[in-house]
Amino acid sequence: MKEQKQKRSNKSAKPAGVKKKPRSTGIASSNKTSSDSNRLSAKLKSLLPDLEALYKDIHSHPELSMQETRTAGIAAKRLKAAGYEVTSGIGKTGVVGLLRNGDGPTVMLRADMDALPVKEATGLAYASSVTARDSEGNIVPVMHACGHDMHVTWLVGAATLMAKEGGPWRGTLMAVFQPAEETAQGAQAMIDDNLFKRFPKPDVVLGQHVMVGPAGAIGGRTGVITSAADSFQIRMFGRGAHGSMPQASIDPVVMAAATVLRLQTIVSREIAPNDAAVVTIGSLQAGTKENVIPDEAVIKLNVRTYDEGVRKRVLAAIKRIVNAEAEASGAPKPPEITALDRYSLVSNDADATRRVADAFRERFSGDHVLEVKPTSASEDFGSFGAEWGAPSVFWFIGGTDRNLYAKAKAAGKVQEIPTNHNPRFAPVIHPTLATGVETLLVSANAWLSPDASSG
Ligand code: ZN
Ligand code: ZN
Repeated sequence: MKEQKQKRSNKSAKPAGVKKKPRSTGIASSNKTSSDSNRLSAKLKSLLPDLEALYKDIHSHPELSMQETRTAGIAAKRLKAAGYEVTSGIGKTGVVGLLRNGDGPTVMLRADMDALPVKEATGLAYASSVTARDSEGNIVPVMHACGHDMHVTWLVGAATLMAKEGGPWRGTLMAVFQPAEETAQGAQAMIDDNLFKRFPKPDVVLGQHVMVGPAGAIGGRTGVITSAADSFQIRMFGRGAHGSMPQASIDPVVMAAATVLRLQTIVSREIAPNDAAVVTIGSLQAGTKENVIPDEAVIKLNVRTYDEGVRKRVLAAIKRIVNAEAEASGAPKPPEITALDRYSLVSNDADATRRVADAFRERFSGDHVLEVKPTSASEDFGSFGAEWGAPSVFWFIGGTDRNLYAKAKAAGKVQEIPTNHNPRFAPVIHPTLATGVETLLVSANAWLSPDASSG
């Protein structure tokens, strides 16, 4: 809670301990947007215990991608109670809440809801012990190992406060709870379910993600913020034979091994040193027994890029190499390349990012708002803005205990802090929870406040 107070003070605020009158001090009196935010932030304090309980409840009831019915039900119920027009079941479990408050811009706030097939090892009192049946029929442990439980809670908090306070903001607030971010299906499923026809086009699409970083720190940038990701399965065909008779075979093991090595030369030999790309072969499977040459080999690989031109080049190189290696081996037929999933590049619109960053800097003290490098993680958040033709902004919020982070940094061991998707990933609730609600309020008000410039 100590950090939370520190975090709340805006950059011109008086030293800690001075009694403050939020509506009449410094920036607040000279800027309406800021005064609206101050008022909402004060209300947030009283809502915080409820949100903390909600976060713990969602954390201990995680749901796999496209199975988020309980979480979606909670989101819908909360939105309805706050007076939103609610539509459920969009793209299977997606929820959209609309709150109209006169003429003005439309702001879309997005949270993803799904958890991962990971066995929780945080040891938290509210840890998950849930198991569920995955899309392939296997029973798997389930954990909110990416922090989407925090995202849902943030959006519930911000939506509640914007509704309760009604207040001077004008326009339409659109709260979107999306399924299946982790499988790159959710945003597209909502879009395919006519999201764009059923709801007003937003003037801006805003989203945020909890990550390793000092709790309460906000990291963002103009331009590319998360990488594009492409995954493929490649089946390479040979001809099986007795292990003692290689002359009768076309050995897919050798074919696949040569392919894997040659694929490594894409990044090292075909991509410029100041461009970045990742080609990871995460799976290579062939054969069952030492004295049987199998019929085929299956490779699964994952590609990350930050530039569409580089992406096209890498994908073309993969296709070229895979086909050429098959041919070099005398494969009876060309390899079968199947796309598994795809995440587009998430790129922050320059003008909208500036507006969000200005609002954050005004609201939070300077050392809490950081410019960060793009992450190699990927997101399907970008689909909304890109396909709707609306500017979008995505940023990160640190969720690591500040002391722990500082110690790890001093020791050069930041990479040892459990990241998203790790069984021990455990964001600290304070001030992470309050910060994420505030950032949504502050950024939405940068468009919806009567004093926010239009366009
Ligand atoms: Zn994730
Ligand atoms: Zn995530």
